[in-house]
Amino acid sequence: MTQVREEQGYYGEFGGSFVPPALQGVLDGLAETFEAYREDPEFNEEFKACLREFVGRETPLTYAPQLTEAYGGAKLYLKREDLTHTGAHKINNAVGQALLAKKTGAHRVIAETGAGQHGVATATACAMLGMECIIYMGRLDMERQALNVFRMELLGADVVPVDRGQGRLKDAVDAALEDLVKNYETTFYLLGSAVGPYPFPAMVKHFQSVISEESKQQLHEREGKLPDAVIAVTGGGSNAIGAFAHYIDEPGVRLIGAEPEEAATLTHGVPAEIHGFKCLVLQDENGEPAPTYSIAAGLDYPGIGPEHSYLKMSGRAEYDTVSKQEVMDAFQLLSRTEGIIPALESAHAVALAKRIAPQYDRDASIIINISGRGDKDVQQVYEMFKEA
Ligand SMILES: *Cc1c(COP(=O)(O)O)cnc(C)c1O
Repeated sequence: MTQVREEQGYYGEFGGSFVPPALQGVLDGLAETFEAYREDPEFNEEFKACLREFVGRETPLTYAPQLTEAYGGAKLYLKREDLTHTGAHKINNAVGQALLAKKTGAHRVIAETGAGQHGVATATACAMLGMECIIYMGRLDMERQALNVFRMELLGADVVPVDRGQGRLKDAVDAALEDLVKNYETTFYLLGSAVGPYPFPAMVKHFQSVISEESKQQLHEREGKLPDAVIAVTGGGSNAIGAFAHYIDEPGVRLIGAEPEEAATLTHGVPAEIHGFKCLVLQDENGEPAPTYSIAAGLDYPGIGPEHSYLKMSGRAEYDTVSKQEVMDAFQLLSRTEGIIPALESAHAVALAKRIAPQYDRDASIIINISGRGDKDVQQVYEMFKEA
């Protein structure tokens, strides 16, 4: 794909870096560090060792016979990111970037968090590597996610409340970026999804692509061939780009992203700039980023990774929405049929599989990426059932 100039941060017209000069200097330095280490055998061995011994990889590829029976059609396999330490794929990236931070000589790691999941993953990786960790979090989000704040504090992180603006994720991002510009000589900004200016999307993809590296090998061992399709949910796009990465150059493999109806960035977005990069963005009638809402906190973002924007526009990947009801049905079905309670985010991918699987017969195989486990969502689902 000649349109992709990943080392310059462009995927077709998407990606790039549109930030003030002071921040651009910091990002240029980070890009240099990343390019120096991404193919470094010693660094990669260290990363793989952390994945093996701390994260608990490789994660299984689990055949799901009852779910296959229930949906009809292709054989369904589940890539089990829910079985990683801390229970979701975010830890792969957090460990990778924290290791890179150590290489740069930074002793402070900072991050922003909304629902708290990325903050917990970052605090976990920093504790393991003995690094100082500062998490910026909107005041309102801190109140809503008090348990995650406590988790981060248990892990030794300093959670800094952000009062400006609406006290939400966007305000926390602004506070973290200010910190970075002021303290760049000692500080590494650990971003949580495949979004943001270059080199973040490329870096996050690099660390998450272990998902498809493993699944390709695992399915080959089981079926002796490539999957017919891979389905993953897209919030910012990190678990999906990791689940797709090793299949992008295999034209026979369909790549399918599932998004919530209420935050359908790839389905309804238009090309625009947001948070320092270009991607498909959901806009309101004034051309401002539209407010999103999702029952899954991890999917609440009006932008999406630049590479997904490109994969969509070039036709290499397809994206479709699922409704709240479909997600709730899938959440229960996977729990009941396979004994696996998925994260509400991951249940979006399961829900979309219900429409994709019957397009095939039993000779075909589909991989559904189970990005995380659902323990964190059980209370919320309980409340939703009570209301219904
Ligand atoms: C954060 C999260 C997501 C969404 O983020 P991506 O960057 O799109 O992967 C999906 N699933 C789980 C379990 C999450 O925690």
